[in-house]
Amino acid sequence: MEKFNVDGIVIKTSVTGESDKILWILTRNRGIIRAFAKGARGTKSRLHSGASLFAFCSFAVYEKNDVFHINEAEIKEIFFELRTSIENLTLAQYFCEVLLKTLPENVVSDEYMRLLLNCLYFLCKEKKPVLLIKSVFELRIASLAGYMPSLVACDNCGEFESEEMFFNCENGLLLCSSCGKNTEAPLLPLPVITAMRHIVFSSFEKIFSFSLPEELLEKLNIITQKYLENCFQQKFRLLDYFDTLK
Ligand SMILES: [Zn+2]
Repeated sequence: MEKFNVDGIVIKTSVTGESDKILWILTRNRGIIRAFAKGARGTKSRLHSGASLFAFCSFAVYEKNDVFHINEAEIKEIFFELRTSIENLTLAQYFCEVLLKTLPENVVSDEYMRLLLNCLYFLCKEKKPVLLIKSVFELRIASLAGYMPSLVACDNCGEFESEEMFFNCENGLLLCSSCGKNTEAPLLPLPVITAMRHIVFSSFEKIFSFSLPEELLEKLNIITQKYLENCFQQKFRLLDYFDTLK
């Protein structure tokens, strides 16, 4: 029987038995683990809060016959404020859906966990536009998963920036306004390209430190979402619902 402690966020739950739960936990160093939380649905259970969606805890885990079990859950943050807005809640669930569908097994997952924690934190604080948080998540997670777009300069002539540039969501390449003339890639104003560069290249501490007017934020959002869907060849169910909330 292996025992270990791990920090992680609950990104999916399902019920089983009379009062038990199965948790999918995005951990700091073991990717996503699936673990059994015995009795966690009981209101008096010591696992009750720690076994809820978005709970960020230090989990004491043991493994028996290839199944993980939660012994203790010491809560660090529960992101309660997410539940006060349907839009924020849906977006948070979308982030979890993306992670569940795309994160490889047994990957070093520290940066994924930090990205999710930061996004949930900013959603709760409501100090950044929801679409900014969504774009940061989408473009950064694609980069973390090995699909970093090539945003340094025009892929054809090396020009660093022109007033508008083309970004091809199929291959992640940038073309300047002259080289991209005959492509079908969307033409984006420079501030959108600058924001994309910021999301991809900045340090974790500064990743949310930019702003864009709403109309450009919407353009950025269309691109980051399409790029993410192309990278993983997936559609995400919760986005359809999120779109109806706007
Ligand atoms: Zn060029």
